Amino acid sequence: MAIDLGTANTLVYVGGRGIVVSEPSVVASDTGSGEVHAVGHEAERMIGRTPATISAVRPLRHGVIADFEVTEAMLRYFIRKVINRRTVHPRLIVCAPSGVTEVEKRAVEEASLAAGARRVHLIEEPIAAAIGAGLAIEEPIGRMVVDVGGGTTEVAVISLGAIVVSRSIRVGGYELDDAIAHYLRIVHKLAIGTRTAERIKLEIGSVVPRAEELTYEVRGRHLVTGLPTAVQLRQGEVREAIAAPMREVMLTIRETLEETPPELASDIAREGIHLAGGGTLIDGLAELITAETGMPTVMTDSPLTCVAVGSGQALEHYDRLGTRDGRYRPAIAPDRRTAM
Ligand code: ADP
Ligand code: MG
Repeated sequence: MAIDLGTANTLVYVGGRGIVVSEPSVVASDTGSGEVHAVGHEAERMIGRTPATISAVRPLRHGVIADFEVTEAMLRYFIRKVINRRTVHPRLIVCAPSGVTEVEKRAVEEASLAAGARRVHLIEEPIAAAIGAGLAIEEPIGRMVVDVGGGTTEVAVISLGAIVVSRSIRVGGYELDDAIAHYLRIVHKLAIGTRTAERIKLEIGSVVPRAEELTYEVRGRHLVTGLPTAVQLRQGEVREAIAAPMREVMLTIRETLEETPPELASDIAREGIHLAGGGTLIDGLAELITAETGMPTVMTDSPLTCVAVGSGQALEHYDRLGTRDGRYRPAIAPDRRTAM
């Protein structure tokens, strides 16, 4: 089985069955004892609505393992959800963001083993995204993948099954939500929660101007009167609100292109930049990237699932080889440990 351990969503892929779990990466636990109350969908509903004794957190918020125990509890929940008593101790491939440190990779491995996996392989997110997008990455052709997740954006150029150039920043969909909440607070004196901010983004968020401007009625608490208040928010205001984090994403894409060797850059100019991750679904992103870089831009068929699917395919490939001498071996970190 393969797990896409995302900052926003965790997906589990099982060979022959496809995606079997897709839930938010959220854990609700007791602030005192640390006891886990809920994981996934159930825990997400609690965000912003918990009493003082329970906290609902996203343990991976920026693509790093901020809290090892909570992450382990989450992995265990997702693994247990899939395996039945007969198929205990699965072999697992976990997709980790490429910006994670060795220590964090070890933490993912340890957490997976502690959660019941027999063996753990790690795969880098851009490689998994590219495989899931159906790109033949083992060819000597440059491919660029831009994955905008909840808490991170990863930009990578892949050739011969390995990452040639990559950048990872801790800016993703959540930073857009935060920017929208900040804008409402400053400009409209309205306090809103992060889930409302995300809903605004999903409903009317866009990164390029549209001929017909949409509006959205936002309900929150007025900061001066303290009373529930509604505001008509225009699409252009949302675009303005998210401009700063979007500029960081554009800058990262440009910088990665500047570092790309010329032969690979010309491949990308021909083949286009491939978009993956939920954050790339924001209206107008492909147009903006093309305008900023001059490169054609292609949306992968299923941006929210391609990393999980690609990880699963990599594991199957690895299984077929049965050895460590696979042709696109650089795509997969070698086994570091085996559970007892
Ligand atoms: P991760 O891999 O970090 O778990 P995902 O690829 O699952 O992240 O993407 C989650 C992010 O995508 C969230 O910030 C969510 O708000 C955003 N997102 C999902 N759908 C859309 C959409 N239609 N428009 C804009 N953002 C979206
Ligand atoms: Mg992801």
